[in-house]
Amino acid sequence: MAEKEIDSRFSKFGTVSFTGLTRVNDFIDYLQQGKVMGTRCKTCGMRFFPPRADCCKSLDSNMEWFEVEGAGTLQTYTTLSYAPTGFGQDLPYAIAVVDFGSVRVFGRLHRSIPAKDIMIGMPLKLAVRKLPDGNMTYEFLGAS
Ligand SMILES: [Zn+2]
Repeated sequence: MAEKEIDSRFSKFGTVSFTGLTRVNDFIDYLQQGKVMGTRCKTCGMRFFPPRADCCKSLDSNMEWFEVEGAGTLQTYTTLSYAPTGFGQDLPYAIAVVDFGSVRVFGRLHRSIPAKDIMIGMPLKLAVRKLPDGNMTYEFLGAS
């Protein structure tokens, strides 16, 4: 009997990985290439971020990857004074939703953006970052 192979690439995502196993593990390979990717349904065209392996509209799994690129606009944000387990040493930090047109992306604002400069509607772009432990993540940087 062959050993069952476990694809645990998602354990390399973020400060604390909440998803060990998923059918969208290629997301991590793309991050390592510097790309933040979502999925697009080839049947109906709906786009998903975070990436999904199945379309909730077409009820199938006919997906392809696309890169979330260019500048988006800040829709909403909040600055955290208290953090979930594992994120305490990062405080304070801001989490945000940025609209890239075809998808909205939830993530963290890069520390280089001073709190006083954060404004709804400001242009932001995605940047891939390698964490000190070697895990990968993405953050929002100012786009000029
Ligand atoms: Zn679909």
